[in-house]
Amino acid sequence: MSDNPRDYRSPPDLLHDRIILITGAGDGIGRTAALSFAEHGARTILLGRTQAKLEAVYDEIVAGGWPRPSIAVMDFATAQGDDYAQLADSMEQEFGRLDGLLHNAGILGDRSPIEHFEVSKWLEVMHVNLNTPFILTQTLLPLLQASDDASIVFTSSGVGRRGRAYWGAYAVSKFGIEGLSQVLADETSAQGRIRVNCINPGATRTAMRRAAYPGEDPETLPLPESLMGPYLYLIGPDSRGVTGQSIDCQ
Ligand code: NDP
Repeated sequence: MSDNPRDYRSPPDLLHDRIILITGAGDGIGRTAALSFAEHGARTILLGRTQAKLEAVYDEIVAGGWPRPSIAVMDFATAQGDDYAQLADSMEQEFGRLDGLLHNAGILGDRSPIEHFEVSKWLEVMHVNLNTPFILTQTLLPLLQASDDASIVFTSSGVGRRGRAYWGAYAVSKFGIEGLSQVLADETSAQGRIRVNCINPGATRTAMRRAAYPGEDPETLPLPESLMGPYLYLIGPDSRGVTGQSIDCQ
């Protein structure tokens, strides 16, 4: 393969027998990632806040003849400790391990100057985009440690590396995600069983992008399907040994 994950081409059975959880699996990039992982043989756990959307993805996976997924309905804005513990318990009982964790769910919040940023909205964005990936990772670490080859992928953004006016809590939460990924990568690198990386999808045709740029013609943007090479590379076995990186899909 080329050294550039953007050019990565995966074998059809890349994720055979792998157990992979995707957050925000009901829509946008997460939905496409869930379908792609399942198509490549993974047993997927579809986590999200809107049951009907998750069921639609479930149906698509079953219709594709791919491994039957599981659904976990959870709203990160309101989930409490028990909800995370229950998720880990049921996954422990059903699978006994976790091979991949794609932290994809996220919210944009307000586009507003710091001077006027509503404090409650700030807290909500930081909670959904940053605190929750931390809590979920910590809760699921024992299951990831039970895998021979586990991959954690956090979703970053261009504004998570270089701050930009009016991107407020969203940008700051993505800076935090880059930091969380680096700290965890450093903590797990010596053992070598878990790799931890960030992915930046870049401008992509989804509801979030439409909300951020209402005047933009969506037709000018790539579909999530076109980004799946780097997602498959990072979540699958071919990125073994790669950790602490932050890669761009475009
Ligand atoms: P979408 O808004 O299309 O999808 C976001 C997903 O996250 C949805 O499935 C949504 O669920 C879920 N979600 C939101 N809030 C919660 C919550 N409280 N609890 C559980 N799930 C929740 O976004 P994208 O697909 O565009 O974005 C995916 C990731 O990529 C995000 O982390 C985003 O920051 C990042 N990104 C996107 C870019 C782009 O141009 N699209 C560019 C750079 C980064 P529901 O459908 O039920 O609302």
